[in-house]
Amino acid sequence: MRGESVVVVGAGQAGCQVAVSLREQGHRGPITIVGDERAAPYQRPPLTKAYLAGETDLAGLVLRQDSYYDDHGIKLVRDERVIGVDRQARVAVLGCARTVSYDHLVFATGARPRPLPVPGAEHVLNLRTIADADAIKQKLDGQVGLDVVVIGGGFIGLEFAAVVRKLRHEVTVVETQPQVMQRALSAETAKHLAARHRSEGVEILAGKSIAAVKEGFVELTDGTVLVADLVVAGIGVIPNSEVAQRAGLAVDNGIIVDAHLRTVDPRIHAVGDCARFASPLTGGLTRLESVQNATDQGTTVASAILGSAEPYTALPWFWSDQYDVKLQIAGLTDGHDRTVTVGDPAEGRFSVFCFRGDRLIGIEAYNRPIDFLMGRRILEAGSSLTPEIVARPGFDLRTSQQQAA
Ligand code: NAD
Repeated sequence: MRGESVVVVGAGQAGCQVAVSLREQGHRGPITIVGDERAAPYQRPPLTKAYLAGETDLAGLVLRQDSYYDDHGIKLVRDERVIGVDRQARVAVLGCARTVSYDHLVFATGARPRPLPVPGAEHVLNLRTIADADAIKQKLDGQVGLDVVVIGGGFIGLEFAAVVRKLRHEVTVVETQPQVMQRALSAETAKHLAARHRSEGVEILAGKSIAAVKEGFVELTDGTVLVADLVVAGIGVIPNSEVAQRAGLAVDNGIIVDAHLRTVDPRIHAVGDCARFASPLTGGLTRLESVQNATDQGTTVASAILGSAEPYTALPWFWSDQYDVKLQIAGLTDGHDRTVTVGDPAEGRFSVFCFRGDRLIGIEAYNRPIDFLMGRRILEAGSSLTPEIVARPGFDLRTSQQQAA
């Protein structure tokens, strides 16, 4: 098994991790990563933060130096796409018609921005790749006071809004839902984050929809017209699963894999944003979009290729930096029906404990990194904290296990 050939389709964080972990775990066979970007695999999170703010460049984002791939016998095929997989012949077909044979193939194809479904969407920029970030930077560089409209108050929209505000532009965020970051956050945390943006001068129009985008302005369905020198959308993503589907694999909002991240074809796995996996945590099929998930799944699949029978059970976690707010989320808070807030929201340091029934399912730490770190450990170990315990005066997560006993 250690000498078998592996083809990784996609050169993002997950794909790169598969190759790195394979070598770290002693795999000796050929490894090929095929990616459609020109840059070597890089970190995407800084694109909405330090990269856009001009505080780092591509060299600061790459996951490994170019020499790493040569030194470790990893063939990195850039600016190229896998357009088909012949499962009988066990070959990946590249856009240039060349084929690469495999013993194991890993889909790490990620996701692409969901297009804005309104007239004039061609005037809208997205922010997912370094090329996207460069296109936005080009519009902003050397200017101040531009009118920037951000469509979508999710991770991308709010991180982008914070940076653009820092660069002294006027920012309006348009969000269809009644609160920002509804997919990822409790109402309590979202409320404070929105207030923080407003205190920085960002206008948030929640519960509003876009009717059309035109050169220089954006029209809302209620008739409002927003002047816009630049329009950037972050309205979610679509998993890149078309090649897997054409290869006859099950696809439904992602490539369907089992708890070992394996498709119905035992020689093919999927990892990262494109993988919808059987999760012991949710008890159903789950697709996660995060760096933690990409790297942990990459490592799990490398081990699986080398013969491990361990399923993927890592606790999900996320983070976002906006202004001086460090937001860290441990666990999956989606579907909570009860929250308890600890700390002082007025001072901008608090944590929201999210419960489903009596069970703690996640913690949102707002400038409370200790709660995040302790919370991860407690959730990993299986928490016995109830809402009543957390709501007690003087509750402290550091001594909470004694309190729960
Ligand atoms: P998202 O799902 O975080 O947010 C999308 C937002 O757009 C939601 O609030 C949604 O209600 C809103 N929306 C949807 N359709 C809309 C419309 N027509 N008009 C206005 N608003 C609309 O997705 P994103 O912000 O696009 O981020 C894309 C991906 O990048 C995600 O996978 C995200 O997890 C990832 N990302 C993560 C981080 C982080 O973890 N810190 C940072 C940036 C990006």
